[in-house]
Amino acid sequence: MKAIHRLCLVLGDQLSFDLASLQGLDRERDTVLLVEVMEEASHVPHHPQKIVLVFSAMRHFAQALANQGFRVQYVTLDDAQNSGSVPGELQRWQARLNADEVHLTETGDWRLEQSLKDCGVPIHWHSDRRFLCTRGEFSEWAAGKKQLRMEYFYREMRRKSGLLLNGDGTPVGGAWNFDADNRKSLPKQVKPPYPLSFSADAITEQVCALVKARFTGHYGSLEDFNYPVTHADAQALWEYFLDFGLAGFGDYQDAMASDEPFLFHARISAALNIGLLDVRQVCSDVEAAYWSGRVALNAAEGFIRQLIGWREYVRGVYWLKMPDYAAGNVFGNSRPLPEFYWTGDTQMNCMRQAIGQSLKHAYAHHIQRLMVTGNFALLAGIVPSQICEWYLAIYMDAFDWVELPNTLGMVMHADGGYLGSKPYCASGQYIKRMSDYCANCAYKVSESTADNACPFNALYWHFLMRHGDRLRSNQRMAMLYKNLDRMPSAKQQALWQRGQALLDRLDNGQSL
Ligand code: SF4
Repeated sequence: MKAIHRLCLVLGDQLSFDLASLQGLDRERDTVLLVEVMEEASHVPHHPQKIVLVFSAMRHFAQALANQGFRVQYVTLDDAQNSGSVPGELQRWQARLNADEVHLTETGDWRLEQSLKDCGVPIHWHSDRRFLCTRGEFSEWAAGKKQLRMEYFYREMRRKSGLLLNGDGTPVGGAWNFDADNRKSLPKQVKPPYPLSFSADAITEQVCALVKARFTGHYGSLEDFNYPVTHADAQALWEYFLDFGLAGFGDYQDAMASDEPFLFHARISAALNIGLLDVRQVCSDVEAAYWSGRVALNAAEGFIRQLIGWREYVRGVYWLKMPDYAAGNVFGNSRPLPEFYWTGDTQMNCMRQAIGQSLKHAYAHHIQRLMVTGNFALLAGIVPSQICEWYLAIYMDAFDWVELPNTLGMVMHADGGYLGSKPYCASGQYIKRMSDYCANCAYKVSESTADNACPFNALYWHFLMRHGDRLRSNQRMAMLYKNLDRMPSAKQQALWQRGQALLDRLDNGQSL
């Protein structure tokens, strides 16, 4: 009887040795295929550093698989026969090798998965076991619920994983969530650890040259590439964070500071999302750091919640709701994304800092994304699909399953509150409280209606006024509307006029 020849396609964000579709392969006979394709690198203008990360990590992973005895076929971007798309390469290699079976782990992008299902090659699909919660388990949990809440899902994941639980199943410390302890601004005397750096090897240098030549129209600098591209380097970055970052992560995770792009953040999200680190191991290391007394509970719990709570939750929502989810726009926004998102050319210091470091490092932390660039897009009524595309393009760790719910749902509230119970809108006062940005800004955060007033202030009230019909009935917004109603009507009018003038400037293509 003829032995079966399997072809296993491994995508650029599936670089884990324990990937489900890699298990059970015959190393003598079966083939692992990795392909660099233009379509995935350019369907949005991905930051050049992100393309370097994925291609370089793919090349290193292919080499590691070959060293372990796997038969590997690797197609580089500049291969003359490269068809340019993942389905095109799968068809080509399936025909060329005459493989009996094609194996693939489910993708992180609905668009890509659909095109693979439609490409005419029968595929044996494998569940992505790198996540704690399968797509099926999430839809069972969500069944019958009108509105989902991350907090309840997170408790399920704590029970399932056993992380930070007492022997009787209750949460360590007597509460599930210590987020209230994690909102401190950064005192001047507290210094974040110096970021660990990685030097580019020959493979990364080759990929840098390729990306420099082929992606000239993409925004973002290639100069400061400093991300791990192998499992060993990702592990080194992780251990560095455990030693020097985690203890400060809890207290200062929401803080922002000028010219401090990383603060106490781990910078491992890109490595996790492409498979260089394992979420269970990472969480178990954090739990061990807590039990050994090296870090406080608010730091350990806050970190674990981001991974087994929020990260798994947004993935579940994505697969439950796609493809309709991507079209959400409950506020009916129609304003295009301002050009300064791609250049950082704005007088608003908070935006300049957040956008500037995003272009330089392909990185900003969650509060910069949610409460600065995201908050501005929400208040200014930007078309959700355009700000989603910006996040997907600009951030190192942004893949569709994680970017779309975070931006469309959490940042823009464009899904009508399915993912989060209220819009995360804030005036300049929040940014002032959590950062030192306002002290060096051309605008005055203490002003709302003057010509030099902080744009976030009037835009905040303008947003509340123009969406009162939808938001007044939301219990969690009641206090904000009480404050608005208490305001003299002349003040309300002045805020409306100032907000409208700022929006008119955007509509005229001017920066702020
Ligand atoms: Fe940002 Fe307003 Fe502060 Fe300037 S004053 S940094 S625009 S919040």
